[in-house]
Amino acid sequence: MCKILTMEETAALLKGARKLVLVSHISPDGDTLGSTLALGRALQSLGKEVILNVDDDIPDVFRFLPGIDAYRRFAADEQVPADLLVVMDASSADRVGNALQVVRTGTVLNIDHHKTNTRFADALYLDDKAAATAEITFDLVRALGVSLDKETATCIYEGLYADTGSFKYSNTTAHTLRTAADLLAYGVDPGYISDSMEVKDRPQIELLGKVLETLTFRKDGRIAYVEIPLSLYDHNVNTDSFVSYPRYIKGVEVALLFKEVEAGLTRVSFRSQTADVAKIALGFQGGGHQKAAGCSIHAPLAEAKKIVLNVVEAALA
Ligand code: AMP
Ligand code: MN
Ligand code: MN
Repeated sequence: MCKILTMEETAALLKGARKLVLVSHISPDGDTLGSTLALGRALQSLGKEVILNVDDDIPDVFRFLPGIDAYRRFAADEQVPADLLVVMDASSADRVGNALQVVRTGTVLNIDHHKTNTRFADALYLDDKAAATAEITFDLVRALGVSLDKETATCIYEGLYADTGSFKYSNTTAHTLRTAADLLAYGVDPGYISDSMEVKDRPQIELLGKVLETLTFRKDGRIAYVEIPLSLYDHNVNTDSFVSYPRYIKGVEVALLFKEVEAGLTRVSFRSQTADVAKIALGFQGGGHQKAAGCSIHAPLAEAKKIVLNVVEAALA
């Protein structure tokens, strides 16, 4: 049973715990990291013992975030006792990593903004109108009665920046922008965050060049996709922004990135102007938002591509 909490109940649950493990989802992005770091810092200022965990490597681009080096991975055979396990920005259990097995706790709390949330936790604070989990985190930190410092504010701003595509996407609301504006009062430097987030390293641009050569159109240009076959895939190269290239082509309604991350496992990113891609991704045990979603398919790239494109084409029919 998953209990749906109010903001006040969420704050009370956090306050009632002495030792907490805060988890960011696998394939970590700017929102899961920023919101986890910010909440962790706030809880530490209340005297709590906080462990930050992510069951994955953290892309270098996020190394500028204050406190990022505190993250640790758990060994599969480890046992970590805690009063509360908090999962940030993950909509389903398979995005959590091994913390659900490793952490010995009575309660799992999930804080999230995905409308596809599967209610896997014992307690859930869900706001699917929030552009980012970081947007929720800002209100939550204040509900905890913690006054923000520059570092916490920077992490929250970075989470907003990441999930709104630098305040461009249609998920950006007046509340998102008000939150960002409020954060500036704590010393956040938007130029520094933007520069840190936008900088690309050389291997990234070199890979992008090769990936753009795979650009393919379907349905009279209403669908566009790019591919990263296993032979080009490099775990150390951040490809999060690659799907924006097919996305911003005139006439494209649904853009996709197919990435074969290991033999027989293909990650798919969806971006849409029209069709509800969260629904499509959910059909493949993934999830996300109406206009930005993702899933993993246990099939080689060519096969995954065929299966997914069939569904996307049907959705645009
Ligand atoms: P991405 O294409 O990885 O940037 O993801 C776009 C959106 O879909 C984000 O909100 C992700 O949280 C969500 N998402 C991506 N992959 C998955 C997945 N396997 N399961 C659930 N949600 C996902
Ligand atoms: Mn995320
Ligand atoms: Mn998010």
